Amino acid sequence: MIKIRGLNKTYNLGLPNALHVLKGIDMDIAAGEFLSIMGASGSGKSTLLNVIGILDNYDTGEYILDGTLVRGLSETRSAELRNHKVGFIFQSFNLISFKNAMENVALPLYYNGVPRRKRNELAMEYLEKLGLGAHAHHLPSELSGGQKQRVAIARALISRPSVILADEPTGALDTATSREVVEIMREVNRTDGITMIIVTHELAVSKATDRIIYLRDGLIASDEHNPNPVIEF
Ligand code: ADP
Ligand code: MG
Repeated sequence: MIKIRGLNKTYNLGLPNALHVLKGIDMDIAAGEFLSIMGASGSGKSTLLNVIGILDNYDTGEYILDGTLVRGLSETRSAELRNHKVGFIFQSFNLISFKNAMENVALPLYYNGVPRRKRNELAMEYLEKLGLGAHAHHLPSELSGGQKQRVAIARALISRPSVILADEPTGALDTATSREVVEIMREVNRTDGITMIIVTHELAVSKATDRIIYLRDGLIASDEHNPNPVIEF
């Protein structure tokens, strides 16, 4: 589903402050995988995730998402591909503060041209699935951290993406809530078969995944199957 070959990315390419961040990444991810990317701060995890999510481009190499070569695409085509194929979950939730939970969840469908009534109906369905039906009309400021992340998960799911990319999804949560969020992501992966890539520096999160990739200084240091995934916080 994801095929990456010899991928390089340098920030400020050609400038004196150029920073070579991804130094030849090779990676294959099959549909339905549940994996984590670990590594020290600054090792290039977010950069890699942003390239995979078509939020940022790369310099050399090849990236194929669901059979489409992601390179030299127009802004419109990138956005279209991103909106249909990728869901995002962030450490800081990235909810819109003046929109309620339902409207936040419905937002990706707005970009995909779905009429309001239909998108709100679907948003309610996903909120209920995540146990937040009663909070549909709450603003983000009226929700706990765990509830906000569940809203973000519903928002990531609503466009039925092929892959969900989560950048430190538990970074702002306490242990009990982190566990809850990881359990939900595991469940979503199992029941909907959605590929889930989780960037984390928390060992407990990576231990819950089936495959653990370590990034060191812009290179893959190890890539191993986890034979016994456990949710242990
Ligand atoms: P990680 O997520 O593993 O902490 P990042 O991918 O965020 O690492 O960053 C890798 C390196 O690239 C860091 O040294 C960071 O400071 C630098 N970096 C990240 N984003 C940018 C940017 N937009 N412009 C310049 N440098 C950046
Ligand atoms: Mg990061």
